[in-house]
Order: sequence, then C-alpha cells, then structure tokens
Amino acid sequence: MDDALCAEVSPVVFFPPTRKGYPKALKICGECDVRLKCLAFALAMERDKDSSKRTGIFGGMTPSERERLQEALDKMKEQEQ
Ligand code: SF4
Repeated sequence: MDDALCAEVSPVVFFPPTRKGYPKALKICGECDVRLKCLAFALAMERDKDSSKRTGIFGGMTPSERERLQEALDKMKEQEQ
C-alpha cells in the first residue's frame, strides 16, 4: 500500500518483542490513511489462524484485538443466517 505510514519506519516497530512496544505502532496506525484497508487485509490473511499465529500490529489493532473483532464478525454473520 503506497500510503502506508509503516513503510517509513523499521518493521520492528510493528512486531515488538513485548506488548510494551504496541503503543508506538498503534499511534502510527492511528494517523495512517489506509488503516481500514490494512485491517481488512489483515483479517482476511489471518482468517483461519489460531491465536498463536497472529502477530504484529496491523490496521491499528493488536493480535488479540483482531481476533476478538473476527469472532464478533463471525457471530454477526451466524445471526444473519
Ligand atoms: S494501518 Fe496498516 S498500513 Fe497503516 S501504519 Fe498501521 S500497519 Fe501500516
């Protein structure tokens, strides 16, 4: 994505070794013009992964936040059927 702000910093920022590093990446995502597109892409890529395989900050969300969002979206889809 051409407008991705993370392209301007080290990838390490988005894959911090501990959760203490999350705020720095989340702040950058918060100012990124392609955040929603990025989040949609991340959710699609992680669709069938279990928790341990989800890593990094994408679309302004931590791995556990993305997992909870995906679970909520799945529940909504189930209720629509
Ligand atoms: S929202 Fe996605 S593209 Fe934008 S800075 Fe965050 S990780 Fe990078």
